[in-house]
Amino acid sequence: RLNEGEVIRRKLHNTIQELKGNIRVFCRVRPLLVDGEDTEQSQSVVQYPQFGELFGRGIDLVQADGQKYTFSFDKVFGPETTQENIFEEISQLVQSALDGYKVCIFAYGQTGSGKTYTMLGQPDQQAHKGLIPRSLEQIFKSSQALQNQGWRFTMQASMLEIYNETIRDLLIPPKADLQKGDAASTGKQHNIKHDNLGHTQVSELTLVEVTSWKEVSGLLRQAAQSRSVGKTAMNEQSSRSHCVFTLRISGVNESTEQQVHGVLNLVDLAGSERLSRSGATGDRLKETQAINKSLSCLGDVILAIANKEQHVPYRNSKLTYLLQPCLGGDSKTLMFVNIAPDSKSLHESLCSLRFAAKVNACEIGVARRTTSSRAASASVSAAGDVVPRTH
Ligand code: ADP
Ligand code: MG
Repeated sequence: RLNEGEVIRRKLHNTIQELKGNIRVFCRVRPLLVDGEDTEQSQSVVQYPQFGELFGRGIDLVQADGQKYTFSFDKVFGPETTQENIFEEISQLVQSALDGYKVCIFAYGQTGSGKTYTMLGQPDQQAHKGLIPRSLEQIFKSSQALQNQGWRFTMQASMLEIYNETIRDLLIPPKADLQKGDAASTGKQHNIKHDNLGHTQVSELTLVEVTSWKEVSGLLRQAAQSRSVGKTAMNEQSSRSHCVFTLRISGVNESTEQQVHGVLNLVDLAGSERLSRSGATGDRLKETQAINKSLSCLGDVILAIANKEQHVPYRNSKLTYLLQPCLGGDSKTLMFVNIAPDSKSLHESLCSLRFAAKVNACEIGVARRTTSSRAASASVSAAGDVVPRTH
């Protein structure tokens, strides 16, 4: 029989486990771009009904005829939000990878909505550097600080691209590709396996031990080069592939012999836009189908996890299978839905917000039980349908 203290401890543990399974969705609206969008014809179609422009939860899209679509997320960041503001909101999540958690941060949205800006930004410019540089700087800084307490960390970085359900190692120099004239193929087959410890093993994938942000930034440059070579050869492929940066963190405490194994995945997803159905044939059609399939698989997986369903369809796409150990269980997931505010993007923005609302819907379901007032104001039904409001 358990004593009272143990009962409380277990209850607390379960509560924390439940919280951990949660998936959070942040919405980020980029500013209108000075070239082309910031004109009379192209006004922002986005409004922030609840708390002003920064850090609210609500977002409205307003159609030309006044039809309004209302959504709410864990946080909504308006166009004034800086890269630093964003990082402040996620730095704790990043930090938890050092405590041994498996963390995934995604950027979802149509091409041009600010995914890469959010993830990478301009790594060499203080004001514009994105999540990846900021996260790594923090992780290396913290891991050094923890040395005083006896911790020794080793970190390995990898970077890959998933295009048409094929994995490409971005840390292999692209030479081999060029010779073949086909950048998609390095001749290497990358198979995904999960070992007993819950780690993902990708065969033939380059893993580089890193000890500083400077080393990682070198790798990122190499990856960008490798990607852009692919880009010319493959018709701007980069917007149609998922780019996954992974940092594996192992720590051991020399005095207590405690061990931690954390993972940080930072994922710049393929552009979510539906390419026009007419005209998409052959390779283009295959590509569109692969993107749509893998993005909807990601949505299905997140939804199944949030619903605590017994079967989570990880195996339906390369991306979800790759990230399986880092999605669900006691891992932590955050999705940014990036939005372009101009009127031409309204349809795509609506699609992105609907996708994100669906992914977030179950959390609203959870919130309903505990804080009914918040649930009542939510405008997204548990099924992810959007309830339009007209004014
Ligand atoms: P995506 O990766 O989704 O295709 P990008 O990140 O490349 O989109 O963004 C498209 C353009 O908008 C780029 O020129 C980028 O610098 C700019 N941009 C995106 N988000 C912001 C932002 N929050 N503030 C300023 N410029 C931004
Ligand atoms: Mg991009």
